[in-house]
Amino acid sequence: MRVLVISDIHANLEAFETVLEAARQEGGFDRIWCLGDIVGYGPNPNECVARLREFEHICVLGNHDAAALGRVNVEDFNPDAKQAVLWTQQQLTPETRAYLERLPERLVEGDYTIVHGSPRNPVWEYILSPTIAHAQFAHFDTPVCLVGHTHVPAVYHHFSDEQGRWMTAWHIPDPGDVYELRDPDRWIVNPGSVGQPRDQDPRAAFALLEVEERTWHYYRIPYNVERTQYLMRQEGLPARLIARLSYGW
Ligand SMILES: [Zn+2]
Repeated sequence: MRVLVISDIHANLEAFETVLEAARQEGGFDRIWCLGDIVGYGPNPNECVARLREFEHICVLGNHDAAALGRVNVEDFNPDAKQAVLWTQQQLTPETRAYLERLPERLVEGDYTIVHGSPRNPVWEYILSPTIAHAQFAHFDTPVCLVGHTHVPAVYHHFSDEQGRWMTAWHIPDPGDVYELRDPDRWIVNPGSVGQPRDQDPRAAFALLEVEERTWHYYRIPYNVERTQYLMRQEGLPARLIARLSYGW
């Protein structure tokens, strides 16, 4: 089975459509695994949820999805994010809301644990270093864990050295890189963000996964950033959130 793995769409329909088309051109996919934050920041929350639901897919709850449902104190967000959360809350249709309400925090699909942030704290924790990643391997049982949330592609490789000590190495992947997620090692992999990359590359990020072979393939694709920025301006969303899409930051 071939899966399109995406995270952090953040209501950026333009980026999402571009990723879907790029994945189709790369040979297509059987289903989508979405790692959360479908909504928040961007101008098309309902459209992104509806588009995702056209595909056979699974999805977990992200912190911005939880915020859009009113489950989070918005004072925990910075002022721009808070304004975007409040705007998103007002936009959600009953249908979108009902869909988001049903999202689980954690899923296990065969060899893969699927969460938004981390296996230790699925909705909120950021895995931003090998030290943080190292501590996570005690919190899931499968060989591989898929995470999003940081908006930065990453591979954390957990392996034992000659003395039998478990180590965790951090790789920052380039587009086109392929990782064979082989036993007996264990892995935490992050596909990056569709709708709001934060690694100084504004292109939309996604991964294609050969599920049985455990082959993980990274991709980046340029999309029409100006179109999304135009729609955000129309909605009066914060200028800093609009500008950052140009820089991938
Ligand atoms: Zn996010």
